[in-house]
Amino acid sequence: MGKLLRKLLLIDLLRGMWVTFRAQNPKRIYTEQYPAERPRVSERFRGAPRLNINPETGETLCISCNLCALACPENLIVVGSERNEQTRHKELITFTYDLSRCMFCGLCEDACPVDALELTQDFELASYTREGMIWDRQMLEEGPRPTRYKS
Ligand code: SF4
Ligand code: SF4
Repeated sequence: MGKLLRKLLLIDLLRGMWVTFRAQNPKRIYTEQYPAERPRVSERFRGAPRLNINPETGETLCISCNLCALACPENLIVVGSERNEQTRHKELITFTYDLSRCMFCGLCEDACPVDALELTQDFELASYTREGMIWDRQMLEEGPRPTRYKS
């Protein structure tokens, strides 16, 4: 009898609608006005990679040790280097980072012994082309070029 009465009085329907309309209260609605206003991301967010340079000398901090490439479970980092016979040090020539395969786990960043590779808080990584997702050394050092958005 109780069940029948519930059905006749539409109790369950009314309870469901109450839940829905309670969420329509303007005080409980939050809309981000992106891209007019950039949302704040968490401090621990890992986004676009950056290859840091020494601000005083303008030279890369990367020592071409290849540890980031070895740490990456996706094998998406390729470090190209040459040995300088005068200084007897390895010198960075190319650095390629395929963003399309990156899962932003941060293992490469953790593996870097000199804090040269860093995952920044930049989350705007969209590109119209697959090639645009492959960042070279210049893009990693200076930030992405606007051309990557062109088809
Ligand atoms: S964040 Fe993870 S998946 Fe992306 S390059 Fe670094 S180690 Fe590889
Ligand atoms: S681990 Fe750091 S220093 Fe070594 S190759 Fe990668 S970015 Fe360069």
